[in-house]
Amino acid sequence: MSGMKKCVFFDRDGIVNQSPGPGYVERWEDFHLLPDFVESLRIVTALGYAAIIISNQQGVALGCMTAETVDDMHRRLRDILKKQHGLSLLDIFYCPHKSGTCDCRKPKPGMILEAARRHGINLAESWMVGDSPGDAESGKAAGCRTILVGEKASPGLADVTFRDMGEFRSEIKNLLSKGGISL
Ligand SMILES: [Mg+2]
Ligand SMILES: [Zn+2]
Repeated sequence: MSGMKKCVFFDRDGIVNQSPGPGYVERWEDFHLLPDFVESLRIVTALGYAAIIISNQQGVALGCMTAETVDDMHRRLRDILKKQHGLSLLDIFYCPHKSGTCDCRKPKPGMILEAARRHGINLAESWMVGDSPGDAESGKAAGCRTILVGEKASPGLADVTFRDMGEFRSEIKNLLSKGGISL
C-alpha cells in the first residue's frame, strides 16, 4: 500500500480537550484544549502521521447545540493549532446523530472508513486513540491499532492503554517509532 497515508485518529472530548463529563461541550468557552494533546500532535506529525479527529456529538440531534456551533468550534480549534502551535489536523469528522439511528456513530467504524476513503489512508498502519471503550471498538472494526487513555482504559479493550494524556504524550513517540508493536 505504498503512497497511502498513515494516520492517528483522535477522539475529541477527553483526548483533544477536557472531557465535559456526561454532557456536551455546547459553547467555545467550555472547550479547554489539553496541552498534552498539542504536544502529542506535534510528535505524531513529526513521525509522518496525519491526524484526524473522530467525534460523537449526539448533542446536536438532542438540540443541545447546533451543527454550526460545532463547526465553529472546530474552525477555532484548527486556527489555534495552526497560529499558536504551527500544527494541522488533516480533517475532523463528527457524528451529529442520535444513538442507534446511523452508521457513523462510534462504536461503528463509519467515520474512520469514510476518512480513509477520502484521504487515502492505510488503516492497518494507523491508530485510533480514545478514552471510551467505543473509541477502541470503532478503531478495531476499521482495522486500526487502538489506544485507550484514562480510567476506562482497562487492558483487553485496546491494544495499548495509558493512565492519562500525560503518559500518552511521553510514550507515543516510542510506540509509533517501533513501527507498530507485535499484536
Ligand atoms: Mg471521549
Ligand atoms: Zn452518525
